[in-house]
Amino acid sequence: PGFDTLGLGEELLRGIAEAGYVTPTPIQAQAIPIVLMGRDVLGVAQTGTGKTASFVLPMMDILSGSRAKARMPRSLILEPTRELALQVAENFVKYGKHLKLNHALLIGGESMDEQKAILNQGVDVLIATPGRLLDLFDRGRILLADCKILVIDEADRMLDMGFIPDVERIVSMLPPLRQTLFFSATMAPEIRKLADAFLQNPKEIKV
Ligand code: AMP
Repeated sequence: PGFDTLGLGEELLRGIAEAGYVTPTPIQAQAIPIVLMGRDVLGVAQTGTGKTASFVLPMMDILSGSRAKARMPRSLILEPTRELALQVAENFVKYGKHLKLNHALLIGGESMDEQKAILNQGVDVLIATPGRLLDLFDRGRILLADCKILVIDEADRMLDMGFIPDVERIVSMLPPLRQTLFFSATMAPEIRKLADAFLQNPKEIKV
C-alpha cells in the first residue's frame, strides 16, 4: 500500500511523490494514522528507519488544515544536535513544497539576528536544539504558549548529552493540552520515566 492510504492531504502527497517516496516504511505506516488521530506516540526507532517523515508528515498535515493565530509557532521539534535539526528542516522543505507552512531553524552557530527576524515574521514550526531555543526564549524572542504539537526526537541522545533538564524546562512552558511525539532508539528505564512524564496515553510503536 502507498502513502495515499494513510490519510494525508493531496498537496502533501504530491510533495512526497516528488521526493521520490513510493512506499511508507514500517514506522511511517504505523505512526502517521495515529498522529493524524491526535494521539501521543512513543516511537522506538533508530535513524535510517524513516522516522523523520513519520512525525514531520502528519504534523505538516495537521498544521496545514488550520491557520495560525497571532503568528505564534504552533509546533516544536526538539533535536539533540544541529546536524539532526538541519536534516529535519531539509525534510520539512522537501515535503512542503505545495503547502504554505514556514519554519524557523533555531540552532547554535547560526546568526541569532537572522533567527530573530524569521521569528518576527511568524512561523508555524520551530525546529530547534534545546540550548539555542532557551537562549532565544530567555531573551523574550519566543512565545511557546500556542505550541500544541511537540516532538522530542532522539531522547536517548538528549539524555547522553545532558539535555534533559533543558528539555524539561522547555516542556514546562508548553500548553499542557498538546500532542506529544517522543522518539528514542532505546528504552532504558530513565527514558521510560521521561516518556511517562511527557506523554498522555501514548500509542507505543516499535520497529
Ligand atoms: P530517517 O530515518 O528519517 O533519517 O530517514 C532515512 C532516509 O530514508 C532519509 O534519507 C529519507 O529521505 C529516506 N526515506 C524516508 N522515508 C522514505 C520512504 N518512504 N521511501 C524512501 N525513502 C525514504
